[in-house]
Formats: sequence, C-alpha cells, structure tokens
Amino acid sequence: MADVLSVINPATEALIQEVPVDDGAAVAQKFKQAKQVQPGWAASSPADRIKSVLRFRELLIERADSLAALLTSETGKPITQARSEILAVPARIDFFVENAAQVLAPDRVYYEPASALPGMGMLEEVIGYDPLGVVANISAWNYPYFVGGNVFIPALLMGNAVLYKPSEFATLTGGAIASLLHESGIPKDIFIPVIGSGLTGAALLEQPIDGIFFTGSYATGQKIAVAAAPKLIRTQLELGGKDPAYVCPDADVAVAAAGLADGAFYNNGQSCCAIERIYVHTDVYDEFLAAFMETVRGFTLGDPTDAATYLGPVSRKPQLDVLANQVADAVAKGATLLCGGERPDRPGWYFAPTVLTEVNHTMTVMQEESFGPVIGIQRVASDEEATKLMQDTPYGLTAAVYGTDRDRAVAILGQLKTGSAYWNCCDRVSPRLPWSGRGHSGLGATLSLAGMYTFLQPRAWHLRRF
Ligand code: NAD
Repeated sequence: MADVLSVINPATEALIQEVPVDDGAAVAQKFKQAKQVQPGWAASSPADRIKSVLRFRELLIERADSLAALLTSETGKPITQARSEILAVPARIDFFVENAAQVLAPDRVYYEPASALPGMGMLEEVIGYDPLGVVANISAWNYPYFVGGNVFIPALLMGNAVLYKPSEFATLTGGAIASLLHESGIPKDIFIPVIGSGLTGAALLEQPIDGIFFTGSYATGQKIAVAAAPKLIRTQLELGGKDPAYVCPDADVAVAAAGLADGAFYNNGQSCCAIERIYVHTDVYDEFLAAFMETVRGFTLGDPTDAATYLGPVSRKPQLDVLANQVADAVAKGATLLCGGERPDRPGWYFAPTVLTEVNHTMTVMQEESFGPVIGIQRVASDEEATKLMQDTPYGLTAAVYGTDRDRAVAILGQLKTGSAYWNCCDRVSPRLPWSGRGHSGLGATLSLAGMYTFLQPRAWHLRRF
C-alpha cells in the first residue's frame, strides 16, 4: 500500500484526511508525462494559454469561500485572511496576463539593410525566448496561493510544464489548485501535483528537470541548491527572513505602531516578510510601546473559522517549541515579557501573542527566524545604532523605516542588503515589483517582468540574407 500523509487541523488537532504520497516511481512517471507533452504546450498560442489562466482567475473568485474554508482547515489561517489571500491573486494574474505577449515576443535589436558591396547582405539580430521546459515548483504552506501562484502562473504562460509539490501542510489546497487549473483548460500533464513531504521533494529533484523554483526555509533551500548544482539548471530560492523595522524619532507613532503590529502578527507571524525585529528611537520609545501594546491587546485569538478571529493556531506543532525556546532564552538573558510567552489553555496549536522588550542581539529571538506570534522590541539612541543592528543578520528579505523624512529613510534602507525596502509600510508585495531575497533569504526573483523572464531562456538569432 502506498504511504499516506495525515492532514491535521491545527485548531482542533483532528485528522481531516489521509492522502496517498507519491513515491520515487510515481514521481518519475509524472516527470515522463510532462516531458512528453511540454513541447506541444510551448508551441500552443499564448492567447490560448492566457484564456485558461483567465478562466482560473474567474474560478478563484467564484469559489473563494470554499477554497478559503479548505485552506483554513489545514493551516489554521484565519478565514478572513485566507479569503484575502485568494482574492488578491487576480491582481497578480492581471499583471502576468497584461505582459505575457510582450515578454514572449522576439526582440529585433539590430537591423542592417543589404549593401551593394559584395558579401554584405542584410543582417538582423533578434533575441528569441524559449521556455525552460519542465520545471519543479516546491512550495511552502504559509501562503500557498501567493507563493505557488507567483511561480506556476507565469511558468505556464511562458510555455513550461510544472510539477507542483505543495507543502505537506497545505496538501489539500495544492490538490484544489490543480483541479481548478485543469478545469480552466490547463492540460493535466502540463500541471501535475506531486504529493508528499521532503522525501517526495527530494525524489522530484532527482528527475532531469529543467528548473527548480523553491519557496521555504534557508535550511531546506541549501539542500535544494546542493541537489540542483550538478544539473546546472535555473535555480530560484525564496527563503526566510529576520525582517527589521526602525521607528525614527519623527515618525507618526500611531501609524507606525498599528502598521508594525499588523506586520508582526498577521497570519500569526508566519509570513516570510513578517516584521521580526523592531528598533525604536528612544525619543518615541514609550509612546510607541504604549500604542503597540494597545493594538496587540486588541487582537482576537480564537477559532480560525470565525470572521472575528485575527490570530489562529500556528500551522505546525513543532514551531510551538521553537517559540517557547526563544522566549525562555530571551527572558533568561534579561528580556522583559510584556505579554504572551505561553500557550493559552485550549486545544489546538495556539501560542499567545508575545511581546518582548529589553532585548539584544545575544538572544535567539533577535537572530533566528521566529515564524510565529513573537516580537522583540529594542530601544536605540540613533539612526546609526539602528542601521548597525538592522544589518546584523545573514538574511536579507525586507526592511522598513517609519518616519516623516523620505531622504533619511532611503539613506538608511540603502545601507541594508535586502530585496525589498519599505518607507512607512511593511509586509507588502506588489506584482509590479520584483520579490527577491539577498543572503540567506534566497536567489532570483518572482513577480515583475523579471519574474516572467525567469521562466524563459534567451536565444541569440544572427540572421543574414544575401
Ligand atoms: P520548509 O523548508 O520546511 O519546506 C518547504 C518545502 O520544501 C515543502 O514543500 C517541503 O516538503 C519541501 N522539502 C523539505 N525538504 C526537502 C528536500 N530535502 N528536498 C526537496 N524538498 C524538500 O519550509 P516551510 O515550513 O514550508 O515554509 C516556511 C519557510 O518558508 C519560512 O522560512 C519562510 O520564511 C519561508 N518562506 C519564504 C517566502 C519568500 O517568498 N521568500 C515565502 C513563504 C515562505
């Protein structure tokens, strides 16, 4: 009998379903199917591919409620946030669709008419764009529609076949995405779900794939890079972060506190670009802390299927120990626990929203990704001190500065090695801008035109006529 994986509801700890897992032989068979049909898909008209993607867009909107309920059941994401995620995908699809024809079109970059001189015929130089072929998309569970859609939608539009491995913590949603794409007209052998955990992901990497697009942790990202290296294929890694924010002395403190509390606790802090560290100038520290705590105390923790809930359970049980250990380490080293720090007395994988002050960089909470409802707030005396502390991380996903002076914010952010920089905002992603990480936060970019060209390989055409 095939192995199964158990899908558990994090809010109730009840078994939802057991799903058969793809072993090595099943993965190899799926690769073979995709390889056979991909050239036909690449040769199909981009207009037909766009039509299918637009139908997928319609179905997402039509079925948002049931898709959100499924996502909430297996990840514990509050239902309003699950709906928001699904209903934000159409704007990303619009960007990809609006730009697909232009990105795919060959560029004539040079033309020289035929000359009367002997041997000097017409010369044309054209850049053509070919799809990569069959690509693997190994995905995370925290935003399956966003992080998956950023890959598989442009990959399909550009003429690739996709072997899509959803996270084992969002397997049912992965299956729902596949059904919707197939119903929308994407051939079953062009988008193939591959089901399982890390072992199945590793088996996928053993296939002669033409590209790997991965979203997940730095630890797994390293393994992916090692497995992909001998293949010399396009390798893109969207990894974790330890994203900092700095509140300048001239900041609008109420705006900063509300924005950063949401940035730290939205989706229970389980966002790659969640605010993970806050530095506050001493001039506004007390005022900021009061406003921040007021916002956090207003967050409703509870049943994720209830529309009033802002904080649900964390999605993976082992993360509860990671969070408890970070809190214990910080408190042992002198931090002050302002709220939370423990599991509330109720079933499910809940962790109370936790705010730590008097923190410093000897503490794991200021160094390692928390990926949960825990935040450290540190007082600083100057922009220089804040900049130095924000730089003290191997990660480089995003950073934010709150203050009224744009030049000051841009000067600080410009000194940080991050893929995204925010002034008076945070935890924000735009389809028009590249989404990328530096350092341990990853390689390559999704979204923007760069995130479409990444699914293509250029070919230099040198064309002469005599
Ligand atoms: P993870 O690294 O545990 O797993 C990610 C995926 O890799 C899963 O599908 C898993 O089954 C698979 N996998 C595990 N071991 C593998 C192996 N040896 N070979 C092939 N595949 C393997 O990460 P996660 O818990 O799913 O996601 C959380 C992490 O993802 C956090 O660090 C978060 O910051 C990061 N993330 C980053 C972005 C981004 O855009 N930069 C977006 C979302 C999440």
